[in-house]
Amino acid sequence: MSPADLRALDIYEFAKSGRQAAGALRVSQMPRMLAEVPSEAPDRDTVFTWQAEGSTQPELQDDGTEAPQPYLRLAVHGSVWLICQRCLAVYSQHLDVDATYRIVATEAEADEFPLDDDEVEVIVGSRQFDLVDLIEEELLLSLPLVPKHNVCPEAHESLLQGSADDEPDEAGAQDEAAKPNPFAVLGKLKQGGSDQKH
Ligand SMILES: [Zn+2]
Repeated sequence: MSPADLRALDIYEFAKSGRQAAGALRVSQMPRMLAEVPSEAPDRDTVFTWQAEGSTQPELQDDGTEAPQPYLRLAVHGSVWLICQRCLAVYSQHLDVDATYRIVATEAEADEFPLDDDEVEVIVGSRQFDLVDLIEEELLLSLPLVPKHNVCPEAHESLLQGSADDEPDEAGAQDEAAKPNPFAVLGKLKQGGSDQKH
């Protein structure tokens, strides 16, 4: 699918005919994502791969009849450069999106949909649906609230130094060990007792 097609997708037809599509999007094609990438990143224009799959589920309508309810499943994978908030170095953050959407016709219908379903999100469909916009929106939502390394390169060293800070505890444990064992003392008393017998 061309980028133009992706921005004007007949999502109802896509779902109804159970179509599948896949492709790659560069961060530079998603301006709001690009704005999140620091200028000092080694490669700001990273690539995300995506897969989309349409489907329908027969569902009971308000009028009591069954009708095919359109759904869209979307998966997006890739990495983006962010600034670690702990050590302030740029690092590569992997992002994964796997979402299922119930496609409704109007905002009002979307508002009616119960929010207690964590598995399914609701989107308002269109004959000219912007799939790139949806992918960008999901990537923005999947960004960590506080970007940071799992283990910072510098913080790792300070962690090692931090173990030195634990010394008082270890010293305390050694003090425990250095304290005479009460049973050993008892043994010595017994020995003393036996000595006295001679
Ligand atoms: Zn870090």
